[in-house]
Amino acid sequence: MIRLSKPVFNKKIIKVIKKILDSGTLVNGSFSKQFEHNLNKYFKTKNSIVVSSGTAALHLALLSLGISKEDEVIVPAYSYIATANVVENVGAKPVFVDININELCINLDELKKKINSKTKAIIIVHEFGNMCDLEKLSKICKKNRIKLIEDAACSFGSRFNNKLTGLFGDISCFSLHPRKILTSSEGGIIVTNKLKYFKFIKSYKNHGQTIKNNKIQFNLPGLNYRLSEIQSALGIEQLSTIKSKISHRRKIAKIYDSYFESNENIEITKELTKSFSNYQSYHILLKNHSTRNKLKNFLFQNKIESNVGAQAIPLQEYYKKKYKIKYNDFSNAIKVFKNGLVIPIGEHITIQKANFIAKKINSFF
Ligand SMILES: *Cc1c(COP(=O)(O)O)cnc(C)c1O
Repeated sequence: MIRLSKPVFNKKIIKVIKKILDSGTLVNGSFSKQFEHNLNKYFKTKNSIVVSSGTAALHLALLSLGISKEDEVIVPAYSYIATANVVENVGAKPVFVDININELCINLDELKKKINSKTKAIIIVHEFGNMCDLEKLSKICKKNRIKLIEDAACSFGSRFNNKLTGLFGDISCFSLHPRKILTSSEGGIIVTNKLKYFKFIKSYKNHGQTIKNNKIQFNLPGLNYRLSEIQSALGIEQLSTIKSKISHRRKIAKIYDSYFESNENIEITKELTKSFSNYQSYHILLKNHSTRNKLKNFLFQNKIESNVGAQAIPLQEYYKKKYKIKYNDFSNAIKVFKNGLVIPIGEHITIQKANFIAKKINSFF
């Protein structure tokens, strides 16, 4: 079976893991510090924090902004479910906005219509590594005094107008889940340029602990959202080859593009001008639900794994029951959820395999 994604690690990592096990220091050691140091270098910031997952990162972002009951947070109607779940978990209300079909990110004109006096934050999602016009979005947030959280779970290394995703938000969150471009098995990263949020998150992710005059104090009712030493070592190794990871994915994406551009049955995701995607996932949109399912089965029979990319969140049981959903408001999200498919991409996909997969898909029609 050609897997949808399969992380690749340098074999040397085994020795590093053995060293960690022999040392006995499995949490709060030098590897998580080193990983944060390397991330600071990458982002040219001082404020990177490693945490236990992308979801933990988003939860901490909302907590540090003090978002709670009575507050509204705007989220895209099409994303991984975690983007909305974290809003529910701080007691606030997620307000869904439809996406554009072109790049699968939030529609900024629709977003503007949903802003009101209760809107405290926007969680923007760079779906599959792609982005909306982030400069325009930043202006909307500033003008309306709304905090911007980047759910950059999918977009490590993506850039808009040559600026890395993660540097647009007040607080930005990455995931290190195995499906993402960088992985530490489970894990997440927070980047913020505000010292206030940095200090809060650093403490909150570690039970609310701070150290004053060499004494441990607990000033906040924190949680344990730490990344372990072994996970940090995996992250360090993965980060060291991020450039080649991105260029390889872009090469595979261009091969797929070249096959599908002329296939009238397939709509591909397009990068906006100024947008440079890491192609964490390669997404194709089919004409209807039954064609999508038939193609998925056909690929499975040919030992090629594929899957639905993300969810139309308002359609999921919890949200459907709790909020009165007007389906016409989310027609693009629903279309992409029902008719979309992601196909294999990553370091495990050679150029030869990409050609094979693309030819198979075109042969289906
Ligand atoms: C993967 C993902 C998450 C969740 O990250 P975890 O590390 O699995 O908790 C959140 N949002 C988006 C957009 C994602 O793709």
